Amino acid sequence: MQTVTRFAPSPNGHLHMGHAYAAIVAHDLARAADGRFLLRIEDIDGPRSRPELADEFRRDLEWLGLEWHEVPAQSTRLESYAAAADRLLEAGLLYRCTCTRKQIAALEPRARPDGIAYPGSCKDKVHSSGEPAALRLDVDAAVAQVGEIVWTDARAGSVIADPRDFGDVVIVRKDLPASYHLAVTLDDAADGVTLVTRGEDLFTSTHVHRVLQELLELPVPHWHHHGLLLDKGGEKLAKRRGSPPLSARREAGEDGLMLAEQLRLQDLPLGT
Ligand code: GLU
Ligand code: ZN
Repeated sequence: MQTVTRFAPSPNGHLHMGHAYAAIVAHDLARAADGRFLLRIEDIDGPRSRPELADEFRRDLEWLGLEWHEVPAQSTRLESYAAAADRLLEAGLLYRCTCTRKQIAALEPRARPDGIAYPGSCKDKVHSSGEPAALRLDVDAAVAQVGEIVWTDARAGSVIADPRDFGDVVIVRKDLPASYHLAVTLDDAADGVTLVTRGEDLFTSTHVHRVLQELLELPVPHWHHHGLLLDKGGEKLAKRRGSPPLSARREAGEDGLMLAEQLRLQDLPLGT
């Protein structure tokens, strides 16, 4: 089977060094296996998406010396998200949640790196129709249905999928036709991705994706969670914190090929 990897940036901010590293990891793993490296623009976050950034991303990747095959952007795939959500809804695995972030935080301010575990307050609530609602996965019901399943990570090896860390995770957002979890799982399957590469900060998300694959009878790829580039203070290089965008370095005449080579030498540990 041919190895297919992808880089899936969201056009809501410039690419920075962390993105360059992620793109290079995905690109190089495909190249080493004589496979294919895909670019997918994750642009369903309408209000925050800036279409002009997708072009900038392509110029940035070219500047880094990468070659890719671009697959359709997420905004063209909304029907597949709706169909999958309907299927989960019909299976009785989703319920409507009208809570605001604030309400959830007040209910259970269990700090998580990537959000707040939801305590299930809306599970048995009767909603008046028309109220804006997200759709959440009844994670206990989902786990009961799929039983014990595993997934394979390049460093962690065989991992038992346990999505409960997130609580009843959002599958369709209140304001968008999908959540990150649903969209990325469906798209990776549709694009034939066989090796999902992503930063180790998303390691726990993979539990959710693995369960969704099982519920929706999707093919199961392998995963490669990579370490994150840190700044001098040991903090994750985040979009908003300091790191100059790739576009600025490119426009300033910096050598992208050299930068890519430096990033390849980073030799970050694989994610945990
Ligand atoms: N659009 C996501 C991001 O930019 C993709 C993450 C993933 O690879 O799953 O972080
Ligand atoms: Zn709720």
